[in-house]
Amino acid sequence: MPIAFPAAEGHVRAAPGKARQWAMVIDLRKCDGCKECTLACQTEHALPKSFEWIKVFEVKDSQGGKYFMPRPCFQCENAPCLRVCPTGATFRDEEGVVLVDQVDKCIGCRMCMEHPVPQIKGTVGKCMFCVHRTDDGKLPACVEACAMEALYIGDLVEDVATNGNETVRLSTFLKENDAFRYKEDLGTGPRVYYIAGHGQLLDN
Ligand code: SF4
Ligand code: SF4
Repeated sequence: MPIAFPAAEGHVRAAPGKARQWAMVIDLRKCDGCKECTLACQTEHALPKSFEWIKVFEVKDSQGGKYFMPRPCFQCENAPCLRVCPTGATFRDEEGVVLVDQVDKCIGCRMCMEHPVPQIKGTVGKCMFCVHRTDDGKLPACVEACAMEALYIGDLVEDVATNGNETVRLSTFLKENDAFRYKEDLGTGPRVYYIAGHGQLLDN
């Protein structure tokens, strides 16, 4: 059973069988840089420690302060990594997740990683929004692991997102908190939204 979101105010359930359009929200006000998300992802996907499908960056703001910015794959709607893949191994599924066909198509050329997106040995793996878990009614491993409840998985169709404890109407939550997407001006259409921390000037 695919994940069923708890009820949120103004929340309209998607018609059964209708494809979701996954998105993630990362609330930088809450992230304390603990990297439990990275560890949970590595455990879930049996990754070596050198593979960080969600990487937590420490960023300096222009005021001399710092904050933490977890970055999974942005699952871009106009994904540069998808365009450069010479074998068509990288593709978007019907729910908007950018996946890599590691078994039949990826030849490990790493063209996609130049763009940048980061396991079968010799092929490329990347964050895939834990589709195997959401299809099974569970939160992505990183969302479940975040004790600060900074990570939300959401559905643009149903207009809802949850961190496992709080469920919000996605569009309202993004608007009221001035959410932004990383390097949005490049036109790649990331499916990951950030909420800036209190008083931080984000030099993105
Ligand atoms: S687990 Fe949560 S608080 Fe910790 S680094 Fe990841 S997003 Fe931030
Ligand atoms: S959604 Fe899944 S694959 Fe992506 S960073 Fe989180 S745990 Fe890793």
